Parts: sequence; structure tokens; C-alpha cells
Amino acid sequence: MENLLVAENIYKRFGNFTALNNVSINIPKQSIFGLLGPNGAGKTTLLRIINQITMPDEGKVYLDGRALHPNDVAHIGYLPEERGLYKSMKVGEQALYLARLKGLSKSEAKERLRYWFKKFEMEGWWNKKIQELSKGMAQKVQFVITVLHRPKLLIFDEPFSGFDPVNANLIKDEILQLKEEGATILFSTHRMESVEELCDYIALIHRSNKLLDGKVSEIKKEYKSNTYEVGIDADDETSLHRDLENRFAIAPAKFKSIQDDLKLTIKLKDNETSNDLLRYLMPRARVNHFVEVIPSVNDIFIKTVTQNA
Ligand code: ADP
Ligand code: MG
Repeated sequence: MENLLVAENIYKRFGNFTALNNVSINIPKQSIFGLLGPNGAGKTTLLRIINQITMPDEGKVYLDGRALHPNDVAHIGYLPEERGLYKSMKVGEQALYLARLKGLSKSEAKERLRYWFKKFEMEGWWNKKIQELSKGMAQKVQFVITVLHRPKLLIFDEPFSGFDPVNANLIKDEILQLKEEGATILFSTHRMESVEELCDYIALIHRSNKLLDGKVSEIKKEYKSNTYEVGIDADDETSLHRDLENRFAIAPAKFKSIQDDLKLTIKLKDNETSNDLLRYLMPRARVNHFVEVIPSVNDIFIKTVTQNA
């Protein structure tokens, strides 16, 4: 898969504090890439380097195979963590002004803004000042301004913070839509909700170091532990439970079902498969529920961070 953005061996120091310690990421074209990590990990610092706001001490960034150039900002849409809009300027006026700065003609800018304001139900805001808007409303305006010139690379720093669940969902859907239309998206977050449905790729940064990166599906395959969640019922549940305990590594499981089942997670040995478990269960019980336990990005995040603490 061809990469749109490559950051190679990035180091960034502030005095004698190292904020990024040899961090590399590769972002394939038309993918959604999540930069994950706790507060203070170094995410914003990396995004600022990619946006050429600060320079790395070492390392290189490539866009579309070429070293990053000041003119590349035209191809990048950036939603910074500190949401900087002019508080006393009117929404419409400001949106038009910023769109013109990004090279859109006045009529083009107006047309696209009209489209987005309608889509996001912001039509009544045009003549309001930013300071009259709530934080979430202002953030919506800034999101629109970020995507308006249809850049091939979109970078959102903590795009969901400050939004209520309804608007966070709206932004999430929009990010998926932008990818469908061909954009490549890099976003940072310290919260793991929303990552699951959005990201094709992730990198996990903790205390200035990259601990983990890759395709989400591959990472999950690596982290799964051959464990199955089962809901079973049998005439003699006590003896079944005892037999299972002797044969497998079992633990109680919690999941919702309409059955009054024995609910367990069952961990198999490396050389055993789901079929081995099914073959064992079928003569002994009715199997009502049977799914492989796949770790969530949140599980992987917590596991990796605590291992490296
Ligand atoms: P994140 O976005 O992952 O929460 P940041 O990249 O903002 O983290 O910050 C990483 C670390 O670098 C923090 O410890 C922060 O205090 C430090 N840092 C960031 N920018 C500066 C700066 N301009 N001067 C000094 N320290 C900084
Ligand atoms: Mg940050």
C-alpha cells in the first residue's frame, strides 16, 4: 500500500526533555490513522511537526514520496488542539476569510460553506460572533473550515474533545465520508472510544516513544489469546462446570442474553482451535452463544501502556 505520509525517526527535544524519541509513522493513502496515547505522550508535538509549525531536531517527513515543503500546507487541512478562531469576528465573515486564505475563490467558498452550514444545521450562525457560540458550536465551525478546501491530507488534533455525543458522532461519520471521497486522515486522541469504528491503522505513543503501530486488524490478531466466550446450558450444570474446569482455563463471563446460561470465557491452548472446543461442548451441552474474544483497542492500549510503565 502506497503511503501518503511518512515520518521517519523523528526526535524533538525541549531543553533536556525529549518529547519525541525516534518516532516513525507510515500513513497509507486513503486510510484513517489514529495517533493514540495518554496526555503528554507527544501526539500534538508530532502533529505540529507534520504541519511544519515546529521543526524536528532529527528525522524527516515525506508527503507523497517527497520531503515536506512549505507549499504542502495547501494540501493539508489541520484542526489544531488549541482551537484558534477570532472571537469577535462573525462566523460567516471569518469562514469566508479563512477559505480565501486557502486559495478558494469567493464564490466557490460561499457555495461550499452554504453546503456545509446546511449539512451541519449551522445556517442560523452566519451572522453570530464566535464568542456567542458554545465551545462545541465553535468547534463545528472550525471543522468545516479545516475540510473546506478538500485537502488530500486531513489532520485533526483531538477532534472529539469538546463535543457532545451527538456531535461527536456527526464528526465521526463525516471523517468516514471524507475518506470515502479520497482523503487520508490522521487524528490524535487520548480517548479510545471512536477509535474502534474509525481507524484502519493506529500508532500508540507513550512518554515520547512509539510502543506499537500497524493495521488495527493485524494488531488485534496478534493480541487475541485463543479465548472464546460461550453461553451453554446443560441438565447438570455443576458437573459440566467441574469438567470444563479440569479440561480448560475458564473464567466467568458477563454478556447479555435471553438465556439462563452458564456464561464463561474459555481459553484454549495454542494448538487447539474453536472446533476442538465445539466438539467438546456439543455432546455435553446446548451451545447458545459462541464468539471469539477479540481485544478492543482500549484493552490493547491499557495492556501495552502498563507493560511499559
Ligand atoms: P499530547 O498531545 O500527547 O498530550 P504534547 O505533544 O502536547 O502531548 O506534549 C508532549 C510533552 O512535551 C509534554 O510533556 C509537554 O509538556 C511537552 N511540550 C510540548 N510542547 C512544548 C514546548 N513548546 N516547550 C516545552 N515542552 C513542551
Ligand atoms: Mg495533544
